[in-house]
Amino acid sequence: MIRTRFAPSPTGYMHIGNLRTALYEYFIAKHSGGSFILRIEDTDQERYVDGAVDIIYDTLKAAGIHHDEGPDIGGDYGPYIQSQRKNDYMKYALELVEKGEAYYCFCTKERLESLRAEGETGVKYDRHCLSLSKEEIKKNLKDGVPFVIRQKIKEGTTTFHDEVYGDVTVPNCDMEDQILIKSDGLPTYNFANVIDDHLMNITHVIRGNEYLSSTPKYNLLYEAFGWEIPTYIHVAPVMKDAHNKLSKRNGDASFQDLVAKGYLPAAIVNYITLLGWAPSENREIFSIDELIEIFDVKGISKSPAIFDPDKLKWMNGEYIKAMPFDEYYKMAEPVIKEAVKTEGIDLKFVAQIVKTRISTVYDIPALIDFIDALPPYEKSLYTHKKMKTNEENSIDFLKLIYGVLENAPEWDNDSLYALMVETAKANGLKNGQILWPVRTALSGKPATPCGATELCVLLGKEESLRRIQKGIELLES
Ligand code: GLU
Repeated sequence: MIRTRFAPSPTGYMHIGNLRTALYEYFIAKHSGGSFILRIEDTDQERYVDGAVDIIYDTLKAAGIHHDEGPDIGGDYGPYIQSQRKNDYMKYALELVEKGEAYYCFCTKERLESLRAEGETGVKYDRHCLSLSKEEIKKNLKDGVPFVIRQKIKEGTTTFHDEVYGDVTVPNCDMEDQILIKSDGLPTYNFANVIDDHLMNITHVIRGNEYLSSTPKYNLLYEAFGWEIPTYIHVAPVMKDAHNKLSKRNGDASFQDLVAKGYLPAAIVNYITLLGWAPSENREIFSIDELIEIFDVKGISKSPAIFDPDKLKWMNGEYIKAMPFDEYYKMAEPVIKEAVKTEGIDLKFVAQIVKTRISTVYDIPALIDFIDALPPYEKSLYTHKKMKTNEENSIDFLKLIYGVLENAPEWDNDSLYALMVETAKANGLKNGQILWPVRTALSGKPATPCGATELCVLLGKEESLRRIQKGIELLES
């Protein structure tokens, strides 16, 4: 059975590249009926941020990802938390020491610093403690000398296979005898990661390609323990442009930023899945269940993907269009309420007319700003070539329709439309010669989210007539 895991560090922030990794892990597991595990990698206590675990938890929930197992937290199961699994790691490190695959290192900070100062930056550890005798080690341990445990990297080369990047070979001399257990007794990230992946029977490791270079070290650990090596799937980063990764500084880099800007979790999930992965069919809108169904590792790209905010906007707009009205209205109502102060406006009607014209609900206020107050506008707005209207003839058209509307028996969209079309016909005019001037007079804008008759319904009879009158005055001035 396939078992994948999402192993974020609690940084207080869910980068969309990380969320994308979680999604791929989830899809790969669920596609084959396997399990998806959530493991918080918090052994680096200095980087710990309060509340960060909640952000990870809430983000996955909002994105529609549910992990399959974990410690009981009262009825539900929480994520595995590495810092709470401390003892295991030491046990495994000591097993490697026993096997001669790792060793105690008692070098002081000062010694390591001077080593670094003497050599070039990034100089590797000189294996000073590898040659300590058993007695020296015993004595140091007895005297309580602080120590770390280091991996003993053997000579030769290490080759591993990655499902996206193929076979990768690295000379072992490029690798340092990395620390497995730090002087505080906690494992380093690299060590805890391997132990946990093994203990949790992870079959497929999916992660950012920045970990490609660490993978040979992990392989050497698996070999030293005699454990099975998981299938590796490394994914390219999400970029802001050709040269820069999408980062916290660019805004928009986290799931939370996007949700705060009005993007729907389902649209974000859909969009970011397609960043770096291509389905075999020529479609772009997929629900999470469809993604589980069709996800195939073969579609993962080796090259970095560029985050395109316009594409995301488009996709979010498609999701809003397809949303059931009530669900959409829950989201749009507070924004419309805030934007419209005029009494008696039918907010549901406002929501309805803009539904197909927005990419997020925050686009609504700019589309409906004419409701509260008619903006000042130029006479030239009445000129429309195709509608055959201009600043002169619009005066007559507006006067004509004013008289008709004043006596309109019904004030609903269908009746008003019938009335305007009949008036045009009876006077030998094109429909647009009535509709365009009315639309201009009511909105004062070159573009509106709906037509003339809907504007009449929206504003009501009294306000509509008042605005048409104002239009006549403007054109006559
Ligand atoms: N804790 C690592 C991170 O947040 C996970 C890397 C991995 O998936 O192995 O990047």
